[in-house]
Amino acid sequence: MPVLRVSNLSMSFGGIKALSNINLEVERGEIIGLIGPNGAGKTTFFNLLTGIYSPTEGEIEYNLKKRGTSKNIKPHKIIGYGISRTFQNIRLFKNMTVLENVLIGFHNNFRYGLGASVLRLPFFYKNEKEAYIEAMNLLSIFSLSDKADEFAGNLPYGEQRKLEIARALAAEPQLLLLDEPAAGMNPRETQELMELIKWIKDRFNLTIILIEHDMSLVMNVCKRIFVFDYGILIAQGTPQEIQNNPAVIKAYLGGE
Ligand code: ATP
Repeated sequence: MPVLRVSNLSMSFGGIKALSNINLEVERGEIIGLIGPNGAGKTTFFNLLTGIYSPTEGEIEYNLKKRGTSKNIKPHKIIGYGISRTFQNIRLFKNMTVLENVLIGFHNNFRYGLGASVLRLPFFYKNEKEAYIEAMNLLSIFSLSDKADEFAGNLPYGEQRKLEIARALAAEPQLLLLDEPAAGMNPRETQELMELIKWIKDRFNLTIILIEHDMSLVMNVCKRIFVFDYGILIAQGTPQEIQNNPAVIKAYLGGE
């Protein structure tokens, strides 16, 4: 049974149709790549999955819970559905420490909105020590333990990206949405990220959808790929199928 099913999903902003009649399914445990040219509707798709927008038409079914045009869910409650995400433009609390940023992720897991978490920082946990140990464990996965007490805003860009993923994981998601996780990373960091994504998927029993422009990452990490173009799902398949798909080559890779 699919963990995510999207039916006839459309989203318009005034006259702009950002997504048109998207139908797709994601199985538990898959790593899915979502690719497409700029403006294809990829981030809009994440914003619909996470309740930032209500769809103009259609339905999202996640773990047998349905949402459509009439019934939307507040973004801060989406974590209750087991969905967590990172953003294209990094959204860390830059004036808080690396550790505090991850602790906020746990806090969200206790079903509070991000606003409430900030007000109640530094420690408002059922078990403060446990949260600290788990946060430090997450930081060690991303080789950030020795930066726990630094301000998040002082980390190099690649490490800020990793910290965002650590924070998203603190919410204990089942479905993790990564919006351009390798953007701004150098080749060595990107290589390391590829291994990390595969590793955390197994370690935390995740389903992952990632938006990414780095094709080597997508082809290496993803089991299946969805291709959006002008808001339309023009192709889906394995990395090899996508690489050989004429519509994809034409629309996305710029070939004939
Ligand atoms: P990129 O790779 O550049 O991030 P994308 O595939 O994520 O692009 P979206 O950001 O989802 O694309 O945008 C899809 C279309 O919807 C674009 O034409 C964009 O201008 C439009 N759009 C997105 N969000 C809004 C909004 N809040 N208001 C108006 N138009 C929007």
